[in-house]
Amino acid sequence: MKLNIAMIKDVRGGSLPFDFTVEGEALQTEDAEQMNFAAPLVLHGKVTNNGQSLSVEGVLKTVLQLKCGCCLEPFLLALEEEFCEKFVEGEAETGDMAHNENEPSYFQGDIISFEELAHDLLVLALPMRPICREDCRGLCVKCGKNLNHQVCSCYDDDLDPRLSALKQLLDKE
Ligand SMILES: [Zn+2]
Ligand SMILES: [Zn+2]
Repeated sequence: MKLNIAMIKDVRGGSLPFDFTVEGEALQTEDAEQMNFAAPLVLHGKVTNNGQSLSVEGVLKTVLQLKCGCCLEPFLLALEEEFCEKFVEGEAETGDMAHNENEPSYFQGDIISFEELAHDLLVLALPMRPICREDCRGLCVKCGKNLNHQVCSCYDDDLDPRLSALKQLLDKE
């Protein structure tokens, strides 16, 4: 995922398109939580020289396989993340590991490398608590059945389980 921008480096207003398709696994870092890619990762857009910096606009697309935080079933999540990032020539300041959104990214020489950008976009796009669908009913806390697929009769009396626990406590006293 490298683009040679020599052609537009000294041309204000010049722009270059890019279109990469890679295996998402190639972007994994060892320390981060591993992601399951169900489709290749596509990154396309264009780089424009705006005088002070190179402005990179585009979209990242892929499909991730995630586990629902509610019913624990695997499901597919299609991502389509638009981005706009500034690149300036130079070295990132060392010691500052976390990439601040307001700070530009850096490139050296004539090459812009998109790996780090793609990785950061993925991490940002990943939901904190993935849910297979908005109305996922989850698992029955009593019998463990997936309530999306089957009904159980654990709470047929229609009493909220939390209320029934409270009722038991009250009855004891
Ligand atoms: Zn679910
Ligand atoms: Zn049940």
